Amino acid sequence: MPVLNPANGDVVASVRTYSETEIDEIIRKADAARHDWAAVTAKERSAILRAWFDLIILHREELAEICTRECGKPLAEARTEVDYAASFVEWYSEEAKRAYGETIPSFAVGKSIVVTKEPVGTCAAITPWNFPLAMITRKSAPALAAGCAIVIKPSEATPLSALALEALAVKAGIPTDVLRIVPSDDAPMVGKLFCTHPTVRKISFTGSTAIGKLLLEQAGSTVKRVSMELGGNAPFIVFGDADVDAAVDGAMIAKFRNAGQSCIGANRMLVQRDVHDLFVEKFVARVSALKVANGLEEGAQIGPLITDTAFKKVESLTDLALSQGASLAWGGSHHNAGAQFYTPTVLTGVAPDMDIARQEIFGPVASITSFQSEDEALRLANDTRYGLASYFYTRDIGRVARVMRELEYGMVAVNEGLLGTEVAPFGGIKESGLGREGSRHGMDEYLELKYGLIGGLGT
Ligand code: NAP
Repeated sequence: MPVLNPANGDVVASVRTYSETEIDEIIRKADAARHDWAAVTAKERSAILRAWFDLIILHREELAEICTRECGKPLAEARTEVDYAASFVEWYSEEAKRAYGETIPSFAVGKSIVVTKEPVGTCAAITPWNFPLAMITRKSAPALAAGCAIVIKPSEATPLSALALEALAVKAGIPTDVLRIVPSDDAPMVGKLFCTHPTVRKISFTGSTAIGKLLLEQAGSTVKRVSMELGGNAPFIVFGDADVDAAVDGAMIAKFRNAGQSCIGANRMLVQRDVHDLFVEKFVARVSALKVANGLEEGAQIGPLITDTAFKKVESLTDLALSQGASLAWGGSHHNAGAQFYTPTVLTGVAPDMDIARQEIFGPVASITSFQSEDEALRLANDTRYGLASYFYTRDIGRVARVMRELEYGMVAVNEGLLGTEVAPFGGIKESGLGREGSRHGMDEYLELKYGLIGGLGT
């Protein structure tokens, strides 16, 4: 299967794909190997994961370059992603030693209760192309730390980052059958196999809500544990009392990181009427200065969209918004850096019912809507079936507490434009997903509670 560079269409490399029979065999081997892996002491598993972390950091530059070549993001962002990916391995190397159970005061004389945490078993995962390194480690590191085996299908657009991480894992001492990457150009086949395979105990998915729903249905047939990190429609609210310069800084990151191809990307900017014009003026000044170029070029800030289909979606959503009455403050067209590059764009006067405000834009297009009151901002922000990330800027401490409480989202960033970190639970509510990744909670997704009652202990 050829892997294409979205910046210029060049073939970066070709990778081997796996058939249904081969993946079935790999799952069975993983299941056979997981018992020995679970029997390794937590301290030893921790040391092996730590060795994997060290190797990722040692190969930071090569991994970043692979990431940029296959997914297009600027090299500076790819380096940050390597660090982010490595942080999950480091964190879970530490958590591996802390999968504590509990003892519960007994309900009767002569009986005792213990609760242990056991690995879920053999897990399967499907990951997207937009964070091709971090999405692999955010799932595999807690799974391995918990004593599970895991088989992962990366996006067909970005298998190289995943394979490079797998090679480093083997070098670190993780048994080959316990962590397997299986590239495929037949995602529906792999998804169905993972979800219906009797040996797979858990499926973890990051991707669109539509595919997440399909996998949930399929996984129901064998009652698997599921974790779903799905789409978002993040509001980015700027209140009239905000520090407008700080809000512009945050908006640049929340909107334009990875050319807007992020599940937590600011999809709807809601700006209070009294600071609207000032915010737009300062924001456009920054957006118009962004350097659009091949991610390998020095100083590149906006790379290409991942595919021609993704480019067309961004183009048509923007054209539709303009035809529905939005105004163009900047950009609004193809960029001459290459076929899949779109000029960073700012739209104002976006109405809440326009398609661009209802769907994930997944491109470098900021859509701005003005509002009058806090109640209106909250109503607009919560009026979506998604509930992943949300952002707001204010200097009023009472409003911080109120708005944080009222936003129906799994994650709320106040006066910040970036919230991903390995130490906090990442995930969404409503149709944005089930479960959390990162933090100690991310480890629980790969552990089962076992309640043990011991009787006959005498008085
Ligand atoms: P996608 O189409 O759902 O693809 C994600 C993964 O699912 C890819 O590996 C894809 O394989 C695979 N897939 C596609 N069709 C499938 C099927 N019928 N059965 C099983 N697997 C299938 O999503 P995308 O457009 O690539 O990624 C962007 C989406 O991911 C956005 O909605 C974004 O918000 C979401 N996302 C969420 C998070 C989060 O943490 N919540 C993080 C990042 C991205 P192929 O690529 O090989 O077709």
